[in-house]
Amino acid sequence: MASITLKNIYKKYDHDVTAVEDLNLEIQDKEFIVLVGPSGCGKTTTLRMVAGLEEITQGELYIENRKVNDVAPKDRDIAMVFQNYALYPHMTVYDNMAFGLKIRKMSKEEINDRVINAAKILGIEEYLKRKPRALSGGQRQRVAIGRAIVRDPKVFLMDEPLSNLDAKLRNEMRTEILKLHKRLNTTFIYVTHDQTEAMTLGDRIVIMKDGVVNQVDTPQNVYENPSNVFVAGFIGTPQMNFFEAELSCEDDNYFIIFNGHTINLSKEYVEKFKSKNIKSQPITLGVRPECISITDKLQDSYEINVDVSELMGNEMLIHSRINDNKIVIRSETRYDIKTDHKINISFKWDKIHMFNKE
Ligand code: ADP
Ligand code: MG
Repeated sequence: MASITLKNIYKKYDHDVTAVEDLNLEIQDKEFIVLVGPSGCGKTTTLRMVAGLEEITQGELYIENRKVNDVAPKDRDIAMVFQNYALYPHMTVYDNMAFGLKIRKMSKEEINDRVINAAKILGIEEYLKRKPRALSGGQRQRVAIGRAIVRDPKVFLMDEPLSNLDAKLRNEMRTEILKLHKRLNTTFIYVTHDQTEAMTLGDRIVIMKDGVVNQVDTPQNVYENPSNVFVAGFIGTPQMNFFEAELSCEDDNYFIIFNGHTINLSKEYVEKFKSKNIKSQPITLGVRPECISITDKLQDSYEINVDVSELMGNEMLIHSRINDNKIVIRSETRYDIKTDHKINISFKWDKIHMFNKE
């Protein structure tokens, strides 16, 4: 059980690389929080500062209202699972899991109870006598998680724990990790570069870019109300489509001018974005692939050429262009739409996003 507060945290390596800049985050007790962003954005650095493995250059870190900047890692009651598992190759699975408890001078009986219990939770009881090299990637990852569980920590930190597993196993382990969080009922901070993992695991997700937090919110809110073009483009596959457009305002009536069409927008809809200071001005228009329809109507639609159509079973992706701007459309599967066909599409104007031009 622990809440964690990061207050104006900075990390500078070698005085010039700023890996994390003015990071503020309040993590609730028992929350599953995911740090997500492209490689090099400062996720691992943040996690290592929470664990105490990396010195905090500036700012304050609290665990349960106790300032821990200068508290040694072993006294923080935190366990970390690393991407490369970091198992001891010469020890059995049992000894790998027991090791951290032995150096804490726990009794043999207590250690045994904890290792057996963790092995049961993770379904690795039958491998306890094996060495790591005799295990598959997925089994090794379970051992690495088991080694964290036996410590019964207040906080679990996981740094890309699934990235070395193949896609199928990764999906399975994702569900396992959610079950584990529910069962252990403690705070999890999970790091990944994979937005699907972030969206499916997190109670809230923290989207980072170049050491800076861009948005902290529930997966639903991040998807529906991304705070800027970076977040909008990072979350969701295929990526949101972006276009240059013009927002104009006359007597409280709002219009978007895009590709030769003028579209009337409701005042309420524009006001949703007003907090972002959008007035009459050039904007970046964002349209998710599923917010574009294929239509037979010629009015208010755009004719496009199908460059590639990808059949995915229950849906299809159509790749095309509007004025040299790449566009991807997600539609229900239609076997009659093929490469080089001309089709008409229309935007669902009540589902669009507007961003200040950057
Ligand atoms: P992520 O985990 O999001 O990929 P990291 O936290 O590992 O990102 O790295 C953030 C930035 O800090 C990167 O620019 C990286 O090159 C730099 N960095 C990380 N560790 C060190 C280090 N030990 N010394 C110097 N620079 C580092
Ligand atoms: Mg990393």
